Amino acid sequence: MRRVYLDNNATTPLAPEVFEAMRPYLAECYGNASSIHWFGQQAKAAIETAREQVAKLISARPNEVVFTSGGTESDNSSIFGIVEAAQPHGQYDGKHLIISSIEHHAVLNAAQALEKRGARVTYVQVGADGVVDPADIEAAIRPETVLISIMHANNELGTIQPIEEIGRVAREHDVYFHSDAVQSVGKIPVNVEKLGVDLLSLSAHKLHGPKGTGALFIRKGTHLRPLLYGGHHERDRRPGTENIAGAVGAGKAAELASLNLEMEMRRVSSLRDRLEETILATVPLATLNGDRARRLPTTTNIRFDHVEGEGFVIAMDLKGVACSTGAACSSGSLEPSHVLSAIGLTKAQARSSIRFSLGRLNTLEDIDCVLEVLPAVVEHLRALSPHYNKEAVSYQLSAVSKNV
Ligand code: PLP
Repeated sequence: MRRVYLDNNATTPLAPEVFEAMRPYLAECYGNASSIHWFGQQAKAAIETAREQVAKLISARPNEVVFTSGGTESDNSSIFGIVEAAQPHGQYDGKHLIISSIEHHAVLNAAQALEKRGARVTYVQVGADGVVDPADIEAAIRPETVLISIMHANNELGTIQPIEEIGRVAREHDVYFHSDAVQSVGKIPVNVEKLGVDLLSLSAHKLHGPKGTGALFIRKGTHLRPLLYGGHHERDRRPGTENIAGAVGAGKAAELASLNLEMEMRRVSSLRDRLEETILATVPLATLNGDRARRLPTTTNIRFDHVEGEGFVIAMDLKGVACSTGAACSSGSLEPSHVLSAIGLTKAQARSSIRFSLGRLNTLEDIDCVLEVLPAVVEHLRALSPHYNKEAVSYQLSAVSKNV
């Protein structure tokens, strides 16, 4: 059976070039980057090259890039790190953070953990378009605000947030600004100078790099307390023996992403548009979730009324197509997605929404293969829905009475 992978926001396949770059550092190049002998210096040189590659992709200086274990750690480091540095004696009372209601759980749950310890958090709402209004961020700022954290691109809807404008607001009010750019780095241009961020999280496995490696951009001069205690690695920002193979993989993935970024954006968005436009034109009761224009080129989130989302994902999987109902880390949750609830969807509408996320390996044939099987899957699942049957009957009755 032909298999089509449309779940690239969950993770992406490792690029063969990345695998080849990493291979020596999993075998013969085993030095510890802190050792002063030849083996250590070989590892040190490799991680510094990787740092330059990652820095280049986001237009940062290499000494502003710290390698981490992934997006979750980068997000937690930013949120706890800024608040703790602002409150060195562990009393969080009164310290205030601003985040959006559609952040990834790595930000949302970190903020909620701080809230339980006495910090105050404002959850700025988004509109039905899934986009934050910078004016709402500005209105939420108080004298005690120490951090604003707003994601660059949303992982479920793909909507791109007005980070540049929020960056200006943060600078005007002298508040630190973090952006979770895990879903945008490698997919659209990301420039930390233009965006005006002090901290920016990224994760290698979202751009054809290895899982378990990420990076955090920390603007020079930012007061951040490290999450972990240990040695003096990563310029005292993140202790622990460096994951050389992971960093090398992240660096290579960053280099590959920057090579054809504009061309790949055009290619993948035309595939996404073909998928989306055909579905919206041919499948009844299908609606796009979130803003159509301000979006990643890779992502579409479509609601199929009267279709149970998990059932859809399983039925499509049986046909060889991988898609998802939303964030992979929320699968199995009984609660509807907080992102879809935030844009005003009812529980039923949120549960019938599907995310298709495309990537570098997808082709036109993949899209046509999905379009071939999808309508029948939707029809089959709707036939099992008691609500749909009732509505379908009432449509037919009203059509009949109109004809009479
Ligand atoms: N932030 C966003 C927006 C994400 O989509 C993800 C992963 O899905 C993360 C953070 C977490 O990144 P990682 O899987 O590297 O911990």
